[in-house]
Amino acid sequence: MSVLEKITSKDAIALEEKHGAHNYHPLPVVLSRGEGVYVWDAEGKKYYDFLSAYSAVNQGHCHPKIVDAMVQQAKTLSLTSRAFYNDVLGKYEKYATETFGFDKLLPMNTGAEAVETALKICRKWGYEKKGIEENKAQIIVCDNNFHGRTTTIISFSNDPVARKNFGPYTEGFIKIEYDNLVALESALQNNPNVAGFLVEPIQGEAGVYVPSENYLKDAKALCDKHNVLFIADEVQTGIARTGRLLATCGNCNCTDKHCSGTPEVKPDILILGKALSGGAYPVSAVLANDAIMNVIRPGNHGSTFGGNPIAAVVAIAALEVVKEENLAQNAFELGELFRTELNKFIPTCHLVNAVRGKGLLNAILINDTEESSTAWDICMALKENGLLAKPTHGNIIRFAPPLVMTKEQLLDCVKIITTTIAAFENK
Ligand SMILES: *Cc1c(COP(=O)(O)O)cnc(C)c1O
Repeated sequence: MSVLEKITSKDAIALEEKHGAHNYHPLPVVLSRGEGVYVWDAEGKKYYDFLSAYSAVNQGHCHPKIVDAMVQQAKTLSLTSRAFYNDVLGKYEKYATETFGFDKLLPMNTGAEAVETALKICRKWGYEKKGIEENKAQIIVCDNNFHGRTTTIISFSNDPVARKNFGPYTEGFIKIEYDNLVALESALQNNPNVAGFLVEPIQGEAGVYVPSENYLKDAKALCDKHNVLFIADEVQTGIARTGRLLATCGNCNCTDKHCSGTPEVKPDILILGKALSGGAYPVSAVLANDAIMNVIRPGNHGSTFGGNPIAAVVAIAALEVVKEENLAQNAFELGELFRTELNKFIPTCHLVNAVRGKGLLNAILINDTEESSTAWDICMALKENGLLAKPTHGNIIRFAPPLVMTKEQLLDCVKIITTTIAAFENK
């Protein structure tokens, strides 16, 4: 069978059904091409992509600058492993650390790997710098977190589907309520074994849960007070998604105007993935200053593909696109517009309770139970009308289009969403 041979959507689904593990439950649409904010299915029907591969494609599908960088490097040198140096990794590390305002970067490939890396760095720092007794280090995490799928990470998830029958679980985690400073303070108090606090600036998978105004800043101050590392998982919220280069955006060197006025918090350890490559290639990274990152020495950690030349040039290009095209500012402005328009619509309908989010990371809450199929059915109707989105929890639909969208396109999408839901309601 040639991969170039045309195939119908029905046949493509049948092949995955038969030969692929059933670890996902996709919307029944088979995509064969993407450009900017659009994707096309195998039969040529065009859609707005309102998921952006879980915010990996912030720069839009097949961005020419990113693709060119990738193709050029793929023809030159693709992989050396870290047994040898390559002539682009250092350039990428310099560019990324200057962009985000940290001394050093540790390159990995997927988000989950970067989270694992951050946890390892944090533990080692806890023993070697904070002086925690061997094997006693603890890391505080939040309820309803999503940090990936490895055995350690699911050990501190509270999603029963992600956890059940995957034990025994990794020890050393304390779970507290998200957006609750009192809970954080009491977890920190009188516990010298806490090395870090791992948090998502907005809980994306949990349903785009935006914490209270000063939560991150105050949480960081509590961590400082107790000599605990504040670890921000910005795999989903980072790279301009929420209307700033980073959702935490403390002292990063981005130039967009929403950052400079309201510095939030500078994490001790920053975790990036997804849109760090614009969706072209798996690229993730952990950033920290020397006092923390220097606990990692040769042999402590690594990855065959981490920091490969293709990843390095792709990430530089992807970050340049974010700056050159002012994607943070565009996400900020279109996000305000999106929520304003939906807030006009919501009082006229019974099916949607609210819209929430920041920048172009938003969600609507469907007025039905978590077990109901209403959100899924709405997504099926949106698909028919040319817009692709997916429920996060049973009754929450996330809306996260590529950040290269124009105002006209966004208003067109608002129309599709509101007319689809209105028609659904009148059925
Ligand atoms: C997607 C995601 C991850 C995991 O990334 P993978 O590349 O799927 O391993 C980790 N943290 C957050 C917040 C994410 O959204």
